[in-house]
Amino acid sequence: MRYVSTRGVAPVLEFGEALLAGLATDGGLYVPESWPQLADGGHGDYLETAVEVMAPFVGDSVDQDSFAAMVADSYRGFDAEEVTPLVDLGDGLHLLELFHGPTLAFKDVALQLLGRLFDHELDRRDERVTIVGATSGDTGSAAIEACRDRNNLDIVVLHPADRVSEVQRRQMTTVNSPNVHNVAVDGTFDDCQDLVKAMFADAGFRRRLRLAAVNSINWARIMAQVVYYVVAAERLGGRRSPIAFAVPTGNFGNVYAGHVARRCGLVVPRLVVASNTNDILTRFFTDGSLTVAEVVPTLSPSMDIQVSSNLERLLFELSDRDGPAVAALLERFRSEGTAALDPGLHASLGNAWSGYRFDDEEVLRCIADEADRSGTVLDPHTAVGVLAARAHQEAGYDVGVKMVALATAHPSKFPDAIEQATGVRPPLPDRLADLFDRPEQLVRLPNDLEAVEAFVAERSRVG
Ligand SMILES: *Cc1c(COP(=O)(O)O)cnc(C)c1O
Repeated sequence: MRYVSTRGVAPVLEFGEALLAGLATDGGLYVPESWPQLADGGHGDYLETAVEVMAPFVGDSVDQDSFAAMVADSYRGFDAEEVTPLVDLGDGLHLLELFHGPTLAFKDVALQLLGRLFDHELDRRDERVTIVGATSGDTGSAAIEACRDRNNLDIVVLHPADRVSEVQRRQMTTVNSPNVHNVAVDGTFDDCQDLVKAMFADAGFRRRLRLAAVNSINWARIMAQVVYYVVAAERLGGRRSPIAFAVPTGNFGNVYAGHVARRCGLVVPRLVVASNTNDILTRFFTDGSLTVAEVVPTLSPSMDIQVSSNLERLLFELSDRDGPAVAALLERFRSEGTAALDPGLHASLGNAWSGYRFDDEEVLRCIADEADRSGTVLDPHTAVGVLAARAHQEAGYDVGVKMVALATAHPSKFPDAIEQATGVRPPLPDRLADLFDRPEQLVRLPNDLEAVEAFVAERSRVG
């Protein structure tokens, strides 16, 4: 399998090269040259289906036995035997729980595999890299858990000192692994992000430390997320039985993986894109417009995004893989803050997509209602998806088609919102119950590039 850039200029790469590259050199995102087709079969066994679904994307970059071992190892630590269990919410709606990994959010599903794939590819090349990243609290721990104990990776994560919750900080700082380094920066999340950007922009430093990122545009993350769409179908009637999915959406990676599953032959009549108040995507699917607005903070912070980077992959396909056309559209969007999809292209979306948006008040009511109705406690991100699924059903669409809403975080990850909605603070799962007793490891540094670079250079095993 070879990978092409959505902007059409960067070199065509093999899987392993696209994995390490992340972003293409022309600013585009990598997508496979063609879509492998799913065979009949599949028994709802996560590991078996995972290896089958991903093998054509990985190609010769990893031999089959090593790949199967890597997949098994990635999901061994999940606290559910089915890896992604299904829960029946009634009225033809199922919840697919994606939060049974080490950090209680769906990003673990892809990142656990990504860390191992990185390590394997670096081993093959006899290379090492230093992963650096910034977090406002929600995603740092997933990256750390992905990289911990990997031979060829060191990871340094910056977070704003005293501005992340204690659970969020402890999920990062209690990881006891020699290649994990936490920095509390005297500053804001934006300061942390600026420091990371400045390190990448410092060409000499970047090369010397071989800086890399595990960001959400990496093709391997999408690939790993395709698996649970297929597994859900297998468990609900088979790969050829139609299922619609409702997906709480931020960067458009998760729901785009559902689209990839569809391109590979899964019968998905509809993907319902669920947004919070930051609803650029709702407008895009309604009228084809792309218009930025201020990011509004909500109870579902991982969806507080205005520009969803993975949308570019869908635009590439809609435009018949015309890289220069995608580049021109995004350039217009970037310089003018607004752009419109050609009406013909918008029409070609047909009935395959729908977009809905819900505000915090609706989210809190949904969490309370669902706890009353089924006893299931939803986190605020998942609630946005459940609201969209129910609204879609109630509007009379896709009658008779089973609906699956993706549950992207464990409720205990967002205890304040749950307590506000239900009056009860959700407890951490058993395996994290001693989180507050574990020793922390972190270094506090000033908001100063020289100090942070010196720290990274001292801790990294590269160079
Ligand atoms: C990242 C995240 C999302 C958004 O997923 P995208 O792939 O960025 O669309 C939704 N919910 C939670 C809990 C997340 O962490």
